[in-house]
Amino acid sequence: MTLDQAPSASAPSRAQTAGGPIHEASAVDDHAHAIATADRVANVVVTVVPVALVGFAAWLAWGGALRWPDLVVLALTYLLTGLGVTVGFHRLFTHRSFKTSPQMRALLGALGSAAVEGPVIEWVSNHRKHHRFSDQPGDPHSPHVGHASGWRGALSGLYHAHVGWIFEGEALASEERYAKDLLADPVARFIDRTFLVWVLAGLAFPFALGVALTGTIVGGLTGLLWGGAVRMFFVHHATFSINSLCHFFGRRRFATGDESRNLLWLALPTLGEAWHNNHHAFPTSARHGLRWWQLDPSAWLIAFLERAGLVWDVTRVSHERELAKAAGGS
Ligand SMILES: [Zn+2]
Ligand SMILES: [Zn+2]
Repeated sequence: MTLDQAPSASAPSRAQTAGGPIHEASAVDDHAHAIATADRVANVVVTVVPVALVGFAAWLAWGGALRWPDLVVLALTYLLTGLGVTVGFHRLFTHRSFKTSPQMRALLGALGSAAVEGPVIEWVSNHRKHHRFSDQPGDPHSPHVGHASGWRGALSGLYHAHVGWIFEGEALASEERYAKDLLADPVARFIDRTFLVWVLAGLAFPFALGVALTGTIVGGLTGLLWGGAVRMFFVHHATFSINSLCHFFGRRRFATGDESRNLLWLALPTLGEAWHNNHHAFPTSARHGLRWWQLDPSAWLIAFLERAGLVWDVTRVSHERELAKAAGGS
């Protein structure tokens, strides 16, 4: 086998369209199934382990073991990986709401990967499928589809949209169908394939920062706890809340044909993503907070990078279009 053939051999789920002898195809299916099971186990581990460690961290904090370097590490890693998801995975890779250099694409993709919400191409495929079928059958994480009415149905819908759909692991969107552009993009493919490297870097960084700030290994370990596990917990649940709470609670300014909502109190913790009804109304807009008081830190970062000449062709919604849509137009 030549080196040229190696990458497709290591990515069987993407090589299935090539066709070939039947025994090869079934081997590929088995491999894909094994990967899907491993994925499900990994999903449970990275979602449940941080919850346990958050409990441990809270216990330490209660005992007076929380010190300012830990909070600095938590804040910094939350912002870096959170913005990697909102500005990188979501507004750049999924919706192409601005353009930038390959280096900046790689940086934003690496930061988003460190949030441990899955490799970028998988994340983008699921999210584009969510927009395609929003709150209809086919939506990977709607709180409204397939659940009974009443309180029990509402709770099971919210659970499904928040984390249940990840544990069930059956609704992964086809990357060939939803992310053809990224499969053809060398930067996206590289960041996708090296996902684990960025996850590990996202753990090494808070450890190193903890050591640097305190000068002790113990400081590194508490940095790892707060900037690794606790940060992962908060970033995960900020993202999950968009899928659950922002399709359930809050205000609807635009008739978008789905249940997306703007949820004011969640805007800052989600770095601007909770203006979710605005986002479903104008998916390619780089700004989700359309009004001056709709705080949107991710849009602030994009505007800053634009002024610095690092991003360009930023998609904006005109005030006229916004008013027309709010009045019921398209
Ligand atoms: Zn949505
Ligand atoms: Zn979106």
